[in-house]
Amino acid sequence: MQKRRPVRESSKTTPERNGKALDSGEKKKRSERRLMKFEELPRYLKDNEYIHNHYRCEWSLTETFLSAFSWHNETLNIWTHLGGFLIFGWMMVVSCMETTEVGLAGFVNVFSSKKFNFLGGSSNDRVTIRWPWPSMAKAVYFSSDHHDSNVTHTSSFLNPQGDVEYETIPKWPWLVFLTGAMTCLICSSMSHLFACHSRRFNLFFWRLDYAGISLMIVCSFFAPIYYAFSCHTNWRLFYLSSISILGLLAIFALLSPALSAPRFRSFRAALFLTMGFSGVIPASHVLYLHKDHPNVVIALVYELAMAVLYATGAGFYVSRIPERWKPGAFDIAGHSHQIFHVFVVLGALAHSVASLLIMDFRRASPSCAF
Ligand SMILES: [Zn+2]
Repeated sequence: MQKRRPVRESSKTTPERNGKALDSGEKKKRSERRLMKFEELPRYLKDNEYIHNHYRCEWSLTETFLSAFSWHNETLNIWTHLGGFLIFGWMMVVSCMETTEVGLAGFVNVFSSKKFNFLGGSSNDRVTIRWPWPSMAKAVYFSSDHHDSNVTHTSSFLNPQGDVEYETIPKWPWLVFLTGAMTCLICSSMSHLFACHSRRFNLFFWRLDYAGISLMIVCSFFAPIYYAFSCHTNWRLFYLSSISILGLLAIFALLSPALSAPRFRSFRAALFLTMGFSGVIPASHVLYLHKDHPNVVIALVYELAMAVLYATGAGFYVSRIPERWKPGAFDIAGHSHQIFHVFVVLGALAHSVASLLIMDFRRASPSCAF
């Protein structure tokens, strides 16, 4: 069994707890910027016995903040979700720009067009993005010939010919999703940074993390349901109000200190799973309504990919693989929670692609006659 030697570890420190209050000497040792072993931690910081070393414990607030830029066993947990936050923040900036048509086309344009002007280009700056499979593009766009007079004229990722007429659709449901994703990721990142500061911080930040996850799940429903049920407004209202009520109840429950106790861990997991898997119902409904539209079918494949990515991540989280196989070997890099974080970001990105595909589909079918 391999153990890593902690950075700047004092070999003399072997605090015995025995339920006694900490003396001032021990408190002082903890508040030093010194990484600790699992056995040295107070009970509230003992979470994963397969991670042996490199723990921060009750450092000062400044030291805790600065630890984002040094190596310990939470560094990659902080940065994996901070990186995700920056990705979704970038998507938010691009989406909010006045000239951006939000859809897969808009984002591909940002990457591919040298003409794109971040400071506010005109509509003339838009370029045509070629769909890699033109026959599929035709199937997507020319399966419906219905167009309103109230349309904008622009180019599309899915349009091999260049210009096509389609409707301007509201951005806000998509922005709701981006806001939810950004909130969840920054709450998670901050929780991993600050939860070690004190017992009070620990309790507060992990509750904030749970609330952030609930918020992201609820916000994820908005874009696909709003756009896919644009012509079925009663269903849209039903699905969005149902998930919002469920989400608010979950956030309310998870913010109460009683339910953040370890014995309610399975209750919390069941709550997240119920919220997430309730998406199967509207997804099946969308498939029933629009099964002839390739965009919708491809979007649902991406949603399936999202579910697989989230489930795989949760599998690592629960099983604590690989550190279970070689305790102490993955303290700094490669432990299950870091892998879980990466899968969460990938799952959210898969959901983004699905939402953008549904937005492209909706924009191309403005008359509700499909
Ligand atoms: Zn986490």
